[in-house]
Amino acid sequence: MASPAAPLPSFARLPHPAPRPVDEREAILANPGFGSVFSDHMVEIDYSVDPATGVGRWHDPRVVPYGPIPLDPAAAVLHYAQEIFEGLKAYRLADGGIALFRPFANAARFNASARRLAMPEVPEELFVEAVRQLVLADSEWFPTVEGGSLYLRPFMFASEAFLGVRPSRAYKFLVIASPAGNYFKSGAPAVSIWVSDYTRAAPGGTGAAKCGGNYAASLVPTAEAFSRGHDQVLFLDAAEHRWIEELGGMNLFFVFEDGSLLTPPLSGTILPGITRDSLIALAREEGLTVREERYSLDQWRDDAKSGKLIETFACGTAAVVTPVGKVADSNGEFTIGSGGPGQLTQKLRQRLVSIQRGEAADANGWVHRLA
Ligand SMILES: *Cc1c(COP(=O)(O)O)cnc(C)c1O
Repeated sequence: MASPAAPLPSFARLPHPAPRPVDEREAILANPGFGSVFSDHMVEIDYSVDPATGVGRWHDPRVVPYGPIPLDPAAAVLHYAQEIFEGLKAYRLADGGIALFRPFANAARFNASARRLAMPEVPEELFVEAVRQLVLADSEWFPTVEGGSLYLRPFMFASEAFLGVRPSRAYKFLVIASPAGNYFKSGAPAVSIWVSDYTRAAPGGTGAAKCGGNYAASLVPTAEAFSRGHDQVLFLDAAEHRWIEELGGMNLFFVFEDGSLLTPPLSGTILPGITRDSLIALAREEGLTVREERYSLDQWRDDAKSGKLIETFACGTAAVVTPVGKVADSNGEFTIGSGGPGQLTQKLRQRLVSIQRGEAADANGWVHRLA
């Protein structure tokens, strides 16, 4: 849980001496892509342990020009991968305001990841304030394309120079921002997925933590999926290699002909997606049944062939909702529904996006307006 509420420190502000020229920025914002361009500033906060008392604390929060960070070659992150991150979006609302979507859920998950990686927690209020400071400093960085947003990447890594194997005693927490286009325009083509023989996470491992190490281990399976002509990789459970877990960075939902939904349970080996959680709530508000149950690859194939299963989609902050059209493994492939985006998939996507953008009522208090 959150650390006890402490008064928020004030952030030092060092404006960028040479921000990106307006014409360059405007060209970027008209066609931002994803994850390759960053705004003018970043937030940086340090953590260190007082050697006299052994007590650690976060200090010197600041908004500084975006740029390289000096790192000792012995910094623990470079050797033992103590690193975690989050991903959330800020939206420009119809009335000109700015909002974050469920930022306290990201803060809570960040701290759950921190505990698993033996890292200090960042007080939830400080986490959200850091994000807010950056968004307000770089409020000129919202894409002008439809469906655009400012993607925020808070992250923390072990910075102590020490090669012994134990938790680091120094950390850096940073937030960077990247203008993002519509990952897939509406009417996105359904993706094709490859069921990997590799596993992503084992019981008792780090599968539920959002840590860089999980992604490092998913790169070879993902490259294999690409080389076979697929768009994404799907992982089965590590113990029986039978139960569907998730994609490399997105959770999965299955839609049946009776209108019910199923998604794999939070067993400790999948990432507890905030999009997943939001879609479960929205589907239930629509009166739909959502089961959080295990679902096997064999059952999925049988149900797709018999017509009992009519849609499958993946979800996550970056791409929101992505329809799955085709599934392949070393035994062959099968098609979901007609192979294109399903009706409920599109409806749920639209519902979530309109809440995020302030176009639909926010009955759950998910939209966090920034003053
Ligand atoms: C971040 C992530 C997700 C999606 O989580 P959201 O909170 O919905 O963005 C799913 N799976 C993995 C492995 C992730 O890292």
